[in-house]
Amino acid sequence: MAQTISLKTEADADSAVAKAVAGVIAAGRAAALRHWVPATSGNFSVRIDAGRIAITRSGVDKGNLVASDILIQPLDEALLPGSSAEAELHTALYRQRPEIGAIFHAHSPAATVLSRLALGEATVRFTGWELQKALAGVRTHEAIVDVPVFANDQDISALSGRVDARLAQPAADAIAAPGYLLAGHGVYAWGATEADAARHLEALETLFEFELSYRRFIP
Ligand SMILES: [Zn+2]
Repeated sequence: MAQTISLKTEADADSAVAKAVAGVIAAGRAAALRHWVPATSGNFSVRIDAGRIAITRSGVDKGNLVASDILIQPLDEALLPGSSAEAELHTALYRQRPEIGAIFHAHSPAATVLSRLALGEATVRFTGWELQKALAGVRTHEAIVDVPVFANDQDISALSGRVDARLAQPAADAIAAPGYLLAGHGVYAWGATEADAARHLEALETLFEFELSYRRFIP
């Protein structure tokens, strides 16, 4: 009996891994179709359980991912060989926020351009857009939603520290978006499920496009 239970548990664990790997592959393909991950950029991860994630390895085309392109990364261990340097930005967020089930990072055009324009204010602040209701916790176009903007940095540990510190202290007068921007680099978006993270990534990139267009008309 004990062996039956243990085999069942093992099968469940295997299927959780397979489901997370499939989620990463699907997210990469969807982003590539939108031209949000040019030239092997971006990285995608899905939580398997409390202690592990499935995450894209470094330097692979996100539009043609196969299972061997996905690493099974324990959250409390050093990054595996072949990891993207940016994997630390994923693991740090998962460790701090157990409610996060998926994190998608893209070098999408509007995010990359708007982040440079907004770096001086260190925030992109949305209000007045119906689409902002696609973000978790936002119920009206009248809400004020903040997306933090960080200077890009090749020192990922230092950058991760700055991200953690800022996300821990959101502005009191705004709703914190499920994402942030790295100036001239791209966007990180997350959600409780893969579907939530995908919706947030799409909503944020579209809102960034809206902002870029709108700001051209503001004196
Ligand atoms: Zn990147």
